[in-house]
Amino acid sequence: MRIETRILHTLPHDPLTGAVSVPIYQTSTFEQEAPGINKGFDYSRTNNPTRQAFEELLAELEGGTRGIAFSSGLAAVDAVLKLLSSGDEIIAVDDIYGGTYRALHTIYNRFGITVKHADTSDPGNVLEAIRPRTKLIWLETPTNPTLKVSDIRAIASIAKAANALLLVDNTFCSPIAQQPLKLGADIVLHSITKYIAGHSDVIGGGIVVKDEELGQRIKYVQNATGAVLGPQDSWLAIRGAQTLSLRYAHISNSAQKVAEFLSSHPDVAGVNYPGLRSHPNHLVARAQSSAFGGVISFWLKDDREEAAVELVKYTQLITLAESLGGVKSLVCVPSRMTHASVPRDARIAAGIHDSLVRVSIGLEHPADLIGDLEQAFAKVTERVTEQTLA
Ligand SMILES: *Cc1c(COP(=O)(O)O)cnc(C)c1O
Repeated sequence: MRIETRILHTLPHDPLTGAVSVPIYQTSTFEQEAPGINKGFDYSRTNNPTRQAFEELLAELEGGTRGIAFSSGLAAVDAVLKLLSSGDEIIAVDDIYGGTYRALHTIYNRFGITVKHADTSDPGNVLEAIRPRTKLIWLETPTNPTLKVSDIRAIASIAKAANALLLVDNTFCSPIAQQPLKLGADIVLHSITKYIAGHSDVIGGGIVVKDEELGQRIKYVQNATGAVLGPQDSWLAIRGAQTLSLRYAHISNSAQKVAEFLSSHPDVAGVNYPGLRSHPNHLVARAQSSAFGGVISFWLKDDREEAAVELVKYTQLITLAESLGGVKSLVCVPSRMTHASVPRDARIAAGIHDSLVRVSIGLEHPADLIGDLEQAFAKVTERVTEQTLA
């Protein structure tokens, strides 16, 4: 069966009642017939039937043997980092998600875990950074907010040779477009908050692995430290995932149109979107993913932060907010919002221009989104003209 069908038919209907929607088991504990004898559940931190259903679905979509659902994407990040020990080193993509950067550089650094950042869009840079103590390679592809693409298959073989684990944060692609385990990755991570749940109404995280022993180790960390996804949120994640294939296809189609519109706009200096032929790793993106997703970033000819701030003031449909992957389109200015804590030099070096604007395309009609951007650009021009005349 294709993934669109498996999304809907992986989970059986409730054997007790025939309910076609997975029941929400809002319970903390489970009656035991005798001490240690139960029906497969004893306490909801360890296992809960609704969470387990979502975990099975996630594992199925990514082609893994085990899925583990967390209370947030960052809780999933945290659980992976707890596999490491003092003295271990991580090689991480240079424009890694800001929250992951913060965990690595302000928390795990205090426990003796070091990180070396590399531009992983060239696998040679990963090879060069490998040391005997490298235990984990951390990729996002495409990255946030500059949409850099890294070759998962090439880096998986480097990781294997170095006896390091390869993790791919697959939040931006979702399992609809890209399945890193099939390309050789060991761990796939998701912020469920984004495309999988998809409606901007739940915070959640997920991990999928193919190696059962590795799965048990991560499950052990989760049970020992407790960051589980609750039954209600697990249900919302299942409910959202059921429309993932439709949403992702529509969003990718619209994003391609919006990216092309932006590329030809006279006020835009450059556009980052893996679906554009001009993207430096367009061919790698095409080879390893079946769609390019809904996140676009672009920067302005007037490359000042104020110019970006001015533009996003005028979008009406596209809402100014952090986050991405939901049904409604969102816009943000990374230098002021998601990446405000990154020093300017480091930010510019990572390709995050002062005027960079990131858009997360939603389910609106693409013509309406283009219209919204057009009128926002026009208002900025009007203002500039007024100021010049005055
Ligand atoms: C949002 C996000 C995270 C963190 O997930 P939360 O659910 O917000 O904790 C991690 N990685 C990427 C790529 C993200 O976009």
